Amino acid sequence: MALDSKVPEGPIKDKWTTYKDKINLVNPANKRNIDIIVVGTGLAGGSAAATLAELGYNVKAFCYQDSPRRAHSIAAQGGINAAKNYQGDGDSNYRLFYDTVKGGDYRSREANVYRLAEVSGNIIDQCVAQGVPFAREYGGLLDNRSFGGVLVSRTFYAKGQTGQQLLLGAYSAMNRQIARGKIQMYNRHEMLDVVKVDGKARGIIARNLITGEIERHSAHAVVIASGGYGNVYFLSTNAMGSNATAAWKIHKKGAYFANPCYTQIHPTCIPRSGDYQSKLTLMSESLRNDGRIWVPAKIEDAKAIQQGKLKPTEIAEEERDYYLERRYPAFGNLVPRDVASRAAKERCDAGYGVNATGEAVYLDFATAFVRYGIEQAKIHGIKNPSKEKIIELGQAIIEEKYGNLFQMYEKIIAENPYETPMMIYPATHYTMGGVWVDYNLMTTVDGLYCIGEANFSDHGANRLGASALMQGLADGYFVLPYTIGDYLSNDIRTGTISTDSKEFEDAEEEVTDRINFFMNNNGTKSVDYFHKRLGKVMWDKVGMARNEKHLKEAMAEIKNIREEFWKDVKVPGNANEMNLELEKAGRVADFLELGELFAKDALDRNESCGGHFREESVELDGEQKGEAKRNDTDYAYVATWEYKGEPADAVLHKEELEFKDIELKQRSYK
Ligand SMILES: Cc1cc2nc3c(=O)[nH]c(=O)nc-3n(C[C@H](O)[C@H](O)[C@H](O)COP(=O)(O)OP(=O)(O)OC[C@H]3O[C@@H](n4cnc5c(N)ncnc54)[C@H](O)[C@@H]3O)c2cc1C
Repeated sequence: MALDSKVPEGPIKDKWTTYKDKINLVNPANKRNIDIIVVGTGLAGGSAAATLAELGYNVKAFCYQDSPRRAHSIAAQGGINAAKNYQGDGDSNYRLFYDTVKGGDYRSREANVYRLAEVSGNIIDQCVAQGVPFAREYGGLLDNRSFGGVLVSRTFYAKGQTGQQLLLGAYSAMNRQIARGKIQMYNRHEMLDVVKVDGKARGIIARNLITGEIERHSAHAVVIASGGYGNVYFLSTNAMGSNATAAWKIHKKGAYFANPCYTQIHPTCIPRSGDYQSKLTLMSESLRNDGRIWVPAKIEDAKAIQQGKLKPTEIAEEERDYYLERRYPAFGNLVPRDVASRAAKERCDAGYGVNATGEAVYLDFATAFVRYGIEQAKIHGIKNPSKEKIIELGQAIIEEKYGNLFQMYEKIIAENPYETPMMIYPATHYTMGGVWVDYNLMTTVDGLYCIGEANFSDHGANRLGASALMQGLADGYFVLPYTIGDYLSNDIRTGTISTDSKEFEDAEEEVTDRINFFMNNNGTKSVDYFHKRLGKVMWDKVGMARNEKHLKEAMAEIKNIREEFWKDVKVPGNANEMNLELEKAGRVADFLELGELFAKDALDRNESCGGHFREESVELDGEQKGEAKRNDTDYAYVATWEYKGEPADAVLHKEELEFKDIELKQRSYK
């Protein structure tokens, strides 16, 4: 099938406006006759469900948690971008667009990214109107801070709990519609398949996770907002329940999957502590506004630290290597995530890591304590303050900005980060790849939409900090409500979709067969046993650095693990009750297929771009020596995969990327 991205004609600045002027609308009376299923009630799905119901459609919303309030979006810490230019530091829609395309290493679709920048300001207005308590400056105006890869301050935040506050906003907007009966909320329900009738998405099969009952739900269109697939690595900063099942199931029913290998490994996470760990914790990128990243400059100091014989505070300033400031003077500690992660790995691989495993670097606030302390002393008219007083004043400012993150760190590591630098190391955090969608956010299946982190999104090969929340809310509040109306205008006379058809019957049978298989398999190994093995292959061979040999090995190893899984997985309990192992089994089965496609995609892309670093594709000389080397001649495309049974047999379709408004350049942060 030829891929048509359906990008409207005309200058980039006018595309979205012209598009909105010309689409078909559904009149309010007809909206009452149209049903829409939204799978997922995180920021993307929650905002979409609330807005579609507000418009008058009948929405059925699904999530597997006990409340939309518990979606993984709640974990987002640092903030959300918008080109408001409140700081007067030169920001504009164009600059946000430019930074995002450049940050994504020129592997995203220009028209979508421009639209994202264009609606970003509306998101902030919408959320403020809902009562989201964004941080404010002394004068009462909304405050901003910086995130990696940009030279302006455009990130709106609510301490280190931005996702939570935004989700409360979306959730209250949803609740209003639930109370009106315009949203039927199905908590604790897991979508296990999509149902197509005459080629169009017309419903889903869901399992009631409390009773185990298998249910059929129909609608005129289905929206998937099920989040990212970072847990394919087993350990990640994602919520433990985050999974790829909804996205993978629609892939198997005809939705192409794009750029599966584009994963974000976030540089500032709490390092792993051992084999029994089940998740990793993010330390927000916002900390890099004030924290400086370093390792000892001398290998003997690094060794002494690793053996517990030396403390970081005992290493003199001139004996420290602030390697990001050294390598990237223009952006320093605020280089994009992919660059910062690789730089940490490079130092640790060279033996300079700062914990017992050698896989950690320091994130140090000592300079910021002094900087803020001196400023505070001046503000409060304190003459000749002592060093202690300065630090005390500075720490109070840091506490105000990031207090909850410092507290979280101390609870996990049992060290006080006000007294000793934090230790951090890269961890899997976000997936830029996902279900391919056109400009309308529709997948390759008619009437099947995908929004938020679940789609292949606007972030190209690397997402800049604070832009996932922006994209999820742009999709849900401001884009999908228009684009879906254009499609649904053809359905005003269709009437309710019956769930008694053969298509629903077949899909239900498939779901039931799989559940029965798990319940009757009588294997000997737990689901986690297989998930951990998959995660290890993914991290070791499809992680921060990839090469042909390892990728081929990974594909073969994942296939083997998958075959063993089907022979030997043990799922205890019953199907007609709450059964967390059964839920996990289905999700890991899908990860075991997705993981192989992921490695195949990484193998196919023999260039380094964004988070995808191929060891074979590195700059060999000049100013960029050692940096990732992109290959625009051969790889300036979105790799979309069509399901053909085994992941290894997936067929590649390319969406060639056009850059008319941004010149393709080597990405430099020096
Ligand atoms: C620790 C952390 C901090 C972050 N901080 C930031 C930040 O500061 N700024 C930023 O921009 N981004 C941040 N991100 C990224 C951002 O939080 C996510 O990309 C974003 O919240 C994803 O939102 P979503 O709505 O697409 O999916 P999610 O919030 O993951 O929601 C998925 C929804 O789908 C439902 N679901 C999934 N599968 C099924 C199924 N089969 N059936 C039924 N329901 C299903 C779930 O129940 C849930 O409701 C952070 C991520 C992490 C991990």
